[in-house]
Amino acid sequence: MNLGAKLSILADAAKYDASCASSGTSRRDSRAGGIGSTTGSGICHSYTPDGRCVSLLKILLTNFCVYDCLYCINRRSSNVRRARFTIDEVVNLTIDFYRRNYIEGLFLSSGIIHNPDYTMERVVEVARKLRAEHGFKGYIHLKTIPEASSELIDQAGLWADRISINVELPTETDLSVLAPEKNLSRIEKAMAHIRGRIDSVKAEKKSKGRAFAPAGQSTQMIVGATSTPDVDILVRATNLYLTKSLKRVYYSAFSPIPDASARLPVLRPPLVREHRLYQADWLIRFYNYKAEELVNSSRPNLDLNIDPKLYWALSNPDHFPVDINSAPREILLRVPGLGVRNVNRLLVIRRWKRIGMLDLKRLGISLKKVSPFLITLDHLPPRSERFESLLNNREKSLQQELFDDWPGKSDNGTKFPYAG
Ligand code: SF4
Repeated sequence: MNLGAKLSILADAAKYDASCASSGTSRRDSRAGGIGSTTGSGICHSYTPDGRCVSLLKILLTNFCVYDCLYCINRRSSNVRRARFTIDEVVNLTIDFYRRNYIEGLFLSSGIIHNPDYTMERVVEVARKLRAEHGFKGYIHLKTIPEASSELIDQAGLWADRISINVELPTETDLSVLAPEKNLSRIEKAMAHIRGRIDSVKAEKKSKGRAFAPAGQSTQMIVGATSTPDVDILVRATNLYLTKSLKRVYYSAFSPIPDASARLPVLRPPLVREHRLYQADWLIRFYNYKAEELVNSSRPNLDLNIDPKLYWALSNPDHFPVDINSAPREILLRVPGLGVRNVNRLLVIRRWKRIGMLDLKRLGISLKKVSPFLITLDHLPPRSERFESLLNNREKSLQQELFDDWPGKSDNGTKFPYAG
């Protein structure tokens, strides 16, 4: 098989993995030698048909796999064309594409060939060759296999900017149904090991040793392959942020393709569900919301029609309106239409003057969005019964309908493509 055909198969096979944003690395460039840069200039971005940004060369080393995760197009029992790169083929493709300014780095994952260590050795060797033999300074993200030895995971962290282990599914029950060869405690143990290495290398930073995965670790959760609700997904994500210091949890709405197992849902979840989870995740990380404030046992899924911050505000009318000239930062952050940057600016401005609506307008804040929730020097919103009517009039959520047919009313010939 020629290189072009392999590339076509292995890039396509990798496109379902969402855990590849290149944010969070340290700035590095090749002015003192080598090739590549992690700064943002001269980068070409491209998008897969489903809208994902692939500014990295995002490929699998191989889509052969000895595992049989039901949701994955590359699973052992899947009837897809298979291909396998050699280590040098991946290295040369990365350098060539970088020189042509097609990419800003490499995202490398792999199906598991022979066993986890055998596969991981090859993944690590690609990164080592790029760094040590070609002086590659661009971004490298390696997908790590939790069952691989800790020595190999350590080596991955020494060469890569970011390493990730996919938790795949939100709960152990989900894993046992759809990916029985994967094990939650092994995944968490490997994540804890990576966290320990990142922390200890940071602590030794003064020794000027090589950084360990300076862009941290991330993970991906597949959404909608089981009936697990958003509350379980967000509580799990919060737990991972707290205990494993993850930089990001990526949520990936599953995409059915023909010939899927009857255990998978017939329909794909609406993409807006993925979007709402990202919004909620953002609120938890940067706005001090707790997962339980956004979803809970009586309302286990996010509303698909209203963003979670607005939903929380409308559901908690007693917290509003807030006085922009005296409310503390954490309260201002809860006002729909006010982001972190504008709240910080407002806190500075109000040291010198009382803030009115014109000041908000000058900052580019949408008066329409914030005016029901804020008291300013020249604005006092009417006590709002509108809150309740807004909530009651929203369109009926489609989220529950997603699982009307779950779990697999019939095997309609759909598969879930995924790799990692
Ligand atoms: S998810 Fe990964 S381990 Fe599971 S079948 Fe797909 S490539 Fe193999």
